[in-house]
Amino acid sequence: MSEDCIFCRIVDGEIPARVVYEDADVLAFLDANPLAPGHTLVVPKAHHETLRDVPPAGGESLFAALHSLTPVVEDAVDADASNVAFNNGEAAGQEVPHVHGHIIPRFDGDGGRPVHAVAGDRPELSEDELDAIADDIADAVDE
Ligand code: AMP
Ligand code: ZN
Repeated sequence: MSEDCIFCRIVDGEIPARVVYEDADVLAFLDANPLAPGHTLVVPKAHHETLRDVPPAGGESLFAALHSLTPVVEDAVDADASNVAFNNGEAAGQEVPHVHGHIIPRFDGDGGRPVHAVAGDRPELSEDELDAIADDIADAVDE
């Protein structure tokens, strides 16, 4: 627990939240400033800032909760779809430094955008550059 972390304080019960799911490792609650009805945040109970800080077992429980909750959230608000995403680090727009997945219900014609809209201008990458990037990632995964 990090004393000055708002999500740790929610996990600890010090700050109220509309909790919709809890297990030994994960808590899910409604976003206080929702982008859509049913906008839900899914957090590991342990304090980790970004996904890279979460140990493998924590990643598994986090994804398991996201996986099971997403259709439940969609159905609860009669959504047509959802965006499930992490603002993973400050440069990506993360404001609360306790890793959290967003489940954002989407509705036909809601005027929202796909996740492709979150990045800046598309980079111009040659075939060689794409090959090199793919190799770098694949090699690092193998290590
Ligand atoms: P992010 O930009 O990914 O860090 O998003 C943080 C999210 O946390 C925002 O969507 C906020 O509306 C939400 N949020 C901040 N404080 C609270 C709180 N006390 N309870 C529920 N949601 C919160
Ligand atoms: Zn925290």
